[in-house]
Order: sequence, then C-alpha cells, then structure tokens
Amino acid sequence: MAKGDTEVVIVGGGAAGIAAGRRIMDAHLDCLVVEARPRLGGRAWTMRGNSAFPIDLGCGWLHSADRNPWRDIAEAQGCSIDTTPPPWTRRSAPIGFPPSEQTSFLQALQEFHQQLHSRPEQEPDVPAATVLEPLGQWNALINAISTYANGAELDRVSARDVSRYDDSGVNWRVVEGYGTVIAAHGAGLPVMLGQPVRLIDRSGRRLRVETAGGAITADSAIVTVPSGLLAEERLLFTPPLPEKTEAAAGLPLGLADKLFLALAEAEEFDKESRLFGRTDRSDTGVYHFRPFGRPQIEAYFGGRLAAELEAGGDLAFADFAIGELVGLLGSDFAHRVKPLHLHRWGVDPFARGSYSHALPGKADCRGVLAAPVDDRVFFAGEACSRSDYSTAHGAYLTGVAAAPDDFNYPCGWWPKPAASAAPRSVRPSSPAEYASFPIVSVRYTPSSNLPAIRFTAALAAMLSPRRARKPIAA
Ligand SMILES: Cc1cc2nc3c(=O)[nH]c(=O)nc-3n(C[C@H](O)[C@H](O)[C@H](O)COP(=O)(O)OP(=O)(O)OC[C@H]3O[C@@H](n4cnc5c(N)ncnc54)[C@H](O)[C@@H]3O)c2cc1C
Repeated sequence: MAKGDTEVVIVGGGAAGIAAGRRIMDAHLDCLVVEARPRLGGRAWTMRGNSAFPIDLGCGWLHSADRNPWRDIAEAQGCSIDTTPPPWTRRSAPIGFPPSEQTSFLQALQEFHQQLHSRPEQEPDVPAATVLEPLGQWNALINAISTYANGAELDRVSARDVSRYDDSGVNWRVVEGYGTVIAAHGAGLPVMLGQPVRLIDRSGRRLRVETAGGAITADSAIVTVPSGLLAEERLLFTPPLPEKTEAAAGLPLGLADKLFLALAEAEEFDKESRLFGRTDRSDTGVYHFRPFGRPQIEAYFGGRLAAELEAGGDLAFADFAIGELVGLLGSDFAHRVKPLHLHRWGVDPFARGSYSHALPGKADCRGVLAAPVDDRVFFAGEACSRSDYSTAHGAYLTGVAAAPDDFNYPCGWWPKPAASAAPRSVRPSSPAEYASFPIVSVRYTPSSNLPAIRFTAALAAMLSPRRARKPIAA
C-alpha cells in the first residue's frame, strides 16, 4: 500500500477503534487507525501524574465482568483483576444517611428499576422520570443515581433505552487501570496520532479521508467517534449523511466527571466505602473512599451539576467536593484532602461528554447509527450498542462487529470481493431496516481468544421461531 492509502481506515482509537483494528490485523488485512488525540484509548484513560497509584479518569469498572472481553485481555496482559464488589452494591457508610433510611431508599430504587424493566417494548417510550413514584421520598436521590449512571437526569433519559441495557451484575476492576489495558491492546496497530479527521468524502470509487496532515484513501472506513461529535457535525461526510446526524442527536453524551482526592489518615474510613454528599437533592456528588484500599477518595459528579462545575473550572469541583465532605465530616476534614486529578469530559473537544444515553423516544437511534452505509462506511462505538451502550466493553463489541474476521462467516458484511461468497442477506441493508432489526450481537466466549458471534432475535426467529427471544450459541 502506498503511504496515505489503506484498505480500512478506522477513525478514532478508543476502545471500539482498537478492537476493530486488532480484529482486522488478525484477519491479515491492512488498516490504519487515525486518532485525533496524541494518545490511544479515548474515554479510557489511566494516568498517574502526581498520584502514587494509577487513576482511571474515564472507564474504571469492568461492567458485566463475567462476559466482558476486556477482562481476558487484561489478564493476558498480566494485569490483576480486583473482584471486590462495588460500593453501589453495598450499603453506604451511616454518615448523614441512617441505616433505616438506606433500607427505605434501596427499596424505592429497586421498585423504580423493576418498573422500568417491566415496561413492554410495544408501549410508547417515555422519559424515565415518568416511572418515578409521584412525590416519592427518594426521587431526588434516584435522580442523582441517574446522573452517575446515564450522565443525565431522568427527564432526559429514554425509559426504553434503559430497559434494554443488559448488565450481568458482576463489576470488577483492573488494578493497573482499565485505560492502561485498552491502550495497550492497541500496541502494534498502524496508528496516526494527533490527526483529527475532518471529512470523509465518499463520492468517488475509493473513500477519501481528510485530516489536518493530509488525505488518506481507503476502501472502507469504520467511524468510531463519539455520537455527540457526529451530531455536532465535527466530522463531515460528503455526500452528507443526515440520517446519521439525526440519529446521533438522539444519543447525546451525558456528563460524568471524576475528581480524585488524596486522603490523609485514611485508615479511619473503611476500604471501598461510600458516602452521598446529600440524600435530599439530585445535584450532589458521591464519594468512594479508599478505592483498592488506597488513601484516596474518588468523587463522582454527573448531569447538570457536573455541567455547572465544568463551567466553573477545575477548582469548582474541589470546592464543591470539600464543601459536601465538610458538611458530613466536620470542618477539620478540609485539611485532610488534597485534589489530585480531574478531567472535564464535557469540554474535551474529542469527547464532548462522558457516555451516551438516548433521549426519550430515541432508543432506536442506536440501530440507525450502527447501520453501515453503502457497505463501506461502518459505524462503531459505545453509542452503537443496543444493550451494552455507555461502556468500554460495549464499544469493544461494536468495534469487533464492524470489522471482518472470517470471510466465510455467514454474518459477514465485509465489502471485499472475498466476502461475496458469504451469504449477506441476513444483515439488514437499509438504515430503516437496520433500526427495526435487533442488532447482530457479538458475545464474548471467555474460553476463546476471539469473540464468538451470535445472532439475536430476528435471525433466531428465521432459524427457529421458538427460540426467537434468545441468542443462538455460536
Ligand atoms: C468519567 C467516565 C467514567 C466511565 N466509567 C466507565 C466504567 O466504569 N465502565 C465502562 O465500561 N465504561 C465507563 N465509561 C465509558 C467508557 O469509557 C466509554 O464508553 C468507552 O471508552 C467509549 O469507547 P469508544 O471507542 O466508543 O469511544 P472513545 O473512547 O471516545 O473513542 C473515540 C475516539 O475517537 C477520537 N476522535 C474524536 N474525534 C475524532 C476525529 N475527528 N478524528 C479522529 N479521531 C477522533 C477520540 O479522541 C477517541 O479517541 C466511563 C466514561 C467516563 C468519561
């Protein structure tokens, strides 16, 4: 291949782009990852800086760890997996939140989730806030939880989208950092760093991908940039793809930011314990004490509060966090904490937010966004996942699904001539068809090195109507 020429250009070197690149390399095809930042990983970012320990400023939890492909990859890299259950599965420290109130809150939260997940698919979508108990005592705190989980308050979140989210309930961590694992998985990939793609010209026989450093020609492209950037048309297509812009606008990135604080005399607090700043309002932080037993606090802020704090600059986060902690633990506590690290994901030009949520009525935008165009422009990234969206493993699975593996595999949509032997009719061809089609999902088989591809409902129905709701084992 000539310089500036490749078979597959991958736009974005985050979890999805790296997964796609590795898959393509394993298939002995030529690819090039073009990444805007000076580093790989995107919203997966472990940094050490002035901390004695690695700190994950983006993803930290291996959600659905029992089926999360990054877990095996981390282990293969020699990283250590910490299986301590997360603080949100246990009671909080009884400071400002008496045990009896915690019982009442957990019951209200459980009922809220049951209501959300029992909504039939055929019912019209509503804002998730609609499902709250009218004037419920714990509505504000449930809303705060939504700002951490979705990056947005419940009035902006689609009930249907949340009900489709699939979580196995197993949440583990990587001691060396989740971001470390994801970036290391990209080692050996052909990569151009610091090159924001401005335009993908698909008017010619070959694609022309324009970056600040020049143009790249390619047969196919896998676009993995965050949905918010597609909605804002920071990356343009010619001819334009208005259906992608519209779909991406239905899947904005919510906002969640972490502030890490060093904690003196940390032993006074239980390892892996948690405090809510307030329990009577939604604009509050949640504080994870001694993650991994380290003398630190990981403070988490989401939704409108995070947006307000971002507008105030880095110091606004520390002021707010220390104010809440002092309110709970007394004025001397201010002398025991020191800000370490923070990243404002909302003003990050290559993220513009933390993770996607669907606006009410827009859950099916995930399928529209994921649909390939002309069999040569493919889309991946967490926002393209129907049931693992907002996560690093969801991003991985969409990246793998967008990349070729085995040309003889019946679900291959790969545009190269070799793929023509494979029956491609099982994959929907138009965006509209794709939107109504339960996406072919890529599930991970922990015992193998490669994800095994399984087909979900629609294909299962074609093969065996009685198994229509269940994936067929590969
Ligand atoms: C604070 C926070 C906490 C989180 N916690 C968790 C967690 O505990 N567990 C979990 O699973 N997930 C978590 N996530 C979400 C997870 O990090 C993301 O879902 C995942 O990393 C997204 O991967 P991606 O490849 O889809 O997108 P990205 O990582 O955003 O990758 C896209 C890449 O495209 C690049 N790019 C953008 N524009 C251009 C352009 N024009 N040209 C070229 N490149 C471009 C970006 O720089 C980026 O590297 C968290 C995220 C945040 C911010």
